Amino acid sequence: MNVNEYIESVLATVKKRNPGEAEFYQAVSEVLDTLRPVLEAHPEYQKAGLIERLVEPEKIIKFRVPWVDDSGKVQVNRGYRIQFNNAIGPYKGGLRFRDNVTESVIKFLGFEQIFKNSLTGLPIGGGKGGSDFDPKGKSDAEVMRFCQSFMTELFKYIGADTDVPAGDIGVGAREIGFLYGQYKRLTDLYEGVLTGKGLTYGGSLARKEATGFGLCYFTEEMLKANGKSFKGHKVVISGSGNVAIYAAVKATALGGKVIAMSDSNGFVYDPDGIDIELVKQIKEVNRGRISEYVKARPNATYGDKCSDIWGIKCDIALPCATQNEINGESAKKLVENGCFCVSEGANMPSTPEAIETYQQAGILFGPAKAANAGGVATSALEMSQNSMRYSWTFEEVDEKLHGIMVNIFKNVESAAAKYGMPGNYAAGANIAGFLKVADAMMAQGIV
Ligand code: NDP
Repeated sequence: MNVNEYIESVLATVKKRNPGEAEFYQAVSEVLDTLRPVLEAHPEYQKAGLIERLVEPEKIIKFRVPWVDDSGKVQVNRGYRIQFNNAIGPYKGGLRFRDNVTESVIKFLGFEQIFKNSLTGLPIGGGKGGSDFDPKGKSDAEVMRFCQSFMTELFKYIGADTDVPAGDIGVGAREIGFLYGQYKRLTDLYEGVLTGKGLTYGGSLARKEATGFGLCYFTEEMLKANGKSFKGHKVVISGSGNVAIYAAVKATALGGKVIAMSDSNGFVYDPDGIDIELVKQIKEVNRGRISEYVKARPNATYGDKCSDIWGIKCDIALPCATQNEINGESAKKLVENGCFCVSEGANMPSTPEAIETYQQAGILFGPAKAANAGGVATSALEMSQNSMRYSWTFEEVDEKLHGIMVNIFKNVESAAAKYGMPGNYAAGANIAGFLKVADAMMAQGIV
């Protein structure tokens, strides 16, 4: 079987074995598509069934999460933890709580996480989890009861050296606190089993900022390599959650002007530049809606169709909300409006058609697994601090994060060039992330 036939046969099996799981299939086919030259150069991978093993999660844990709401009604959600690959370290990856979470979504995120974690250069394997529970609109007490029920099952499968979950959409400091409290109660262990913890109980300084800051460090490096920078450029950022807010802070610090942000109801455009403190107050403190922003900023406008944010004229676009939020049509609008760089804070925010549009237009494209790896990298730094019973200063963590993101860019750039695709950072990220995992899997035998 030649390499093309090999890839086609693996993709056919993925499709057959995971029926209807569109997001998972999309993530796998995007990666395999770029690995052709690597598989040509390494026939031993095919012989060892390496790709067949790579696309099959090591374990899928799926469980019922019953809880009682404030009115006394019993609610039932579904919980997941997918332990995808631990060739290079314990499983590591966030938990997502959102009503549209399915097994396909968790699988795609877990698969991406393998390569992202490898790119950080740190010893962490790939995993992901979550639930179709959405904390939005729930009281603190409801969120706590849900988190306690979720952890009552999950604790059996995780541990500081086994599998270390973190936050993602819908899972922030509040949820991590409730989950950690229940883990401790069930196990009597005070260990770094979760990252993104509060600073008083083992959290790391700069973890909250890490994904957004890391995204901008990576993007700045990519811009620099192409004779550009954030300075004086207009930036559009989707979302207004953890990643988006700290991407806005850092993009502004690097000289960019953030002019639009969004949430799942709509977007705000502020020609004077987004007031980030106001966004923090609305989203982080009040858990409110982004639409409230225009009440305090008379020059700002609100639109209630999220995807219209990509029609705003900008130089740099940082999608930081969710998967497939930029489709081919939105990507065309970005190109027509002169956008020269798209760098992904969210996981898989661009559809395959969007990526093709960027590539045809010669736009600089920072793929999620490289560009947003700063969050998990800093989670791994949190794990190190926990096992040392020590904590680094904000500046120390930020400096390490910066160094990691610069290295990721260099590795991605050189892998793309080495395999004949210079400037194709999406291919470079897949290849550089894959090679380390493949090497470890080859060394460990057929497991
Ligand atoms: P948050 O829950 O903090 O924020 C998510 C933001 O995206 C919210 O503003 C939310 O709006 C918005 N959003 C969610 N769904 C949609 C949608 N369908 N359309 C438009 N907006 C939407 O999550 P994070 O900031 O942590 O995560 C954002 C992305 O970054 C995700 O793709 C995540 O996987 C990725 N990521 C996160 C990391 C982290 O460290 N947290 C690390 C690496 C990647 P609303 O307020 O209405 O819910």
